[in-house]
Amino acid sequence: MPVETNNNKPIKPPKVRQFGGRFFILLTLLLLLNLILPTFFEARSLQVPYSTFITQVEAGKVNQAIVSSDRIEYTIKTETPDGKPTEQVFTTTPVAIDLDLPKILREHNVEFSAPPPNPNAWFATLLSWILPPLIFFGIWGLLMNRQSGPAALTVGKSKARIYSEGSTGVKFSDVAGVDEAKAELAEIVDFLKNATKYTTLGAKIPKGVMLVGPPGTGKTLLAKAIAGEAAVPFFSISGSEFIELFVGVGAARVRDLFEQAKQQAPCIVFIDELDALGKSRGGAGPIIGGNDEREQTLNQLLSEMDGFDTNTGVIIIAATNRPEILDPALRRPGRFDRQVVVDRPDKIGREAILKVHARNVKLADDVNLSTIAIRTPGFAGADLANLVNEAALLAARQNQQAVTMADFNEAIERLIAGLEKRSRVLNETEKKTVAYHEVGHAIIAALMPGAGKVEKISVVPRGVGALGYTIQMPEEDRFLMLEDEIRGRIATLLGGRSAEEIVFGKISTGAADDIQKATELAERTITLYGMSERLGPVAFEKSQQQFLEGYGNLRRAISPKVAEEIDREVKQTLDNAHHIALSILQHNRDLLEQTAEELLQREILEGADLRDRLAQVKVPGEMAEWLRTGKISEDKPLLQTLLV
Ligand code: ADP
Ligand code: MG
Ligand code: ZN
Repeated sequence: MPVETNNNKPIKPPKVRQFGGRFFILLTLLLLLNLILPTFFEARSLQVPYSTFITQVEAGKVNQAIVSSDRIEYTIKTETPDGKPTEQVFTTTPVAIDLDLPKILREHNVEFSAPPPNPNAWFATLLSWILPPLIFFGIWGLLMNRQSGPAALTVGKSKARIYSEGSTGVKFSDVAGVDEAKAELAEIVDFLKNATKYTTLGAKIPKGVMLVGPPGTGKTLLAKAIAGEAAVPFFSISGSEFIELFVGVGAARVRDLFEQAKQQAPCIVFIDELDALGKSRGGAGPIIGGNDEREQTLNQLLSEMDGFDTNTGVIIIAATNRPEILDPALRRPGRFDRQVVVDRPDKIGREAILKVHARNVKLADDVNLSTIAIRTPGFAGADLANLVNEAALLAARQNQQAVTMADFNEAIERLIAGLEKRSRVLNETEKKTVAYHEVGHAIIAALMPGAGKVEKISVVPRGVGALGYTIQMPEEDRFLMLEDEIRGRIATLLGGRSAEEIVFGKISTGAADDIQKATELAERTITLYGMSERLGPVAFEKSQQQFLEGYGNLRRAISPKVAEEIDREVKQTLDNAHHIALSILQHNRDLLEQTAEELLQREILEGADLRDRLAQVKVPGEMAEWLRTGKISEDKPLLQTLLV
């Protein structure tokens, strides 16, 4: 592809040996030749059974025989129709080792010999030596080829794709909601375009910029947008593409990539998923060898980054969602010294992203993107793109003229709770249990601080496990959770189970997920947020993940006594929340029953009707005290006494 830089110097795309196709034609030709050639050198002769041959020998007709282990060629004296003596050639295949054959032949005076050395035997020998390695390399080449797309046999060659300006088709205007990151990157693009403006002032531009942020926030998209905006060549490669089976290949690739980049400077090198390559060298990985390769590759990258100076105009941009596991050496000044955080968008950001993705979607008049943005806290750019598409698909399925707000609402529910599963049929007891369970959640949620309104209760099964669900919509984005809000959240989670206890006196397995979440939250308040009065602000967990939630946290080394205490505190927190949940539901028993019966009739409760019902929830006296302190007064009835 012809690519042009800003100074109109044509860029040669990385040289690639086109070897795969031609190689296979050559191989096929050789094979054919091997099959055909020997038959050319053979005299044409008649094939007869072995027994015929023996009979003819015994009849004394055979003149001469050439005997080899797998064929016998012999001549017979005959006469032509006009009486002249002539010879006819026959071949036969001997039966397995006939040891009597030489004796028989001698007895009948047949002149016999072994075949002369094959005139083209050298060829066969040669082929037998050359073909296997050729086939081996051929298959290898094919495999390498498959890994790297169009280029073949590129061991040690950089696989970076090169984009010319604008060929990614993405512009900064396609990326929304990450204005700080955009501003920072625009500066880089500007430096590459107008290098002198900066260098005359003596300013140095950073060599490396690292984009960090949760998955789906638009890091890769931003990099593509840079390629689209910058009028310079843009090399793009993913960290995992450096890692190869063979130690040293990755390092060679890095060398090659920088070689190319330096030739094409000013340019941008983009390394996506840097963590695949730049994992801290300290911890030994479980795979022997794999680590060696990564370390070598990383070392090569580090030394390459040191090896060119700032004003060569090569800027390296990397993206990762796990900055905490990166080797510290990568982040020291002079390497990836600038970190640009690409975080989940806030409400305004989400609206902007929705606008970008709704550009080509026909929206009905009732669609309010700002409302959708309010209802989707925590959604990243990729989720929002998905949401718009899901809504459009829903509208199309119903042959609508435009995408309506109802489609968006359904799409949000789909993304939060999964697809509706009306095919899952519950029996009467199950349905009743689910209805009371969900109303239990809703009633508690209505009283708890900071959690947002309950928007909908449904007993239509959805997704993988949900038999029913309650949707709460926050009114605003929240970045902190207060103590009492966490307590409220735990009580809300336990509300479902509590309703089952109060109404049926019997509990079901349906609360497993709630209990899991409540326990996790209770544990975090103590081990991570330091909210326990007894244990104080001590972190018992090492928080390791910045952007990926839900895995990787390790317990600090603690004494068994402290472990016991943590367990006790977690249990106490859960018990108290459970107690309050039971107490609230007991206070609102009539409301619980009425609402659950109504829900059983209608399957879904939402809107004004639901709001009016939940506005009637009565507050038990002990709730305020518990919200404030997390404690329950001693003289109050215990959980068990409520369970009648
Ligand atoms: P990341 O690399 O951060 O994991 P991507 O850049 O691959 O995320 O984002 C995936 C898709 O999500 C993009 O192709 C785009 O459609 C959408 N997207 C993500 N973030 C944004 C954003 N800030 N603005 C517009 N679209 C976005
Ligand atoms: Mg990405
Ligand atoms: Zn539940």
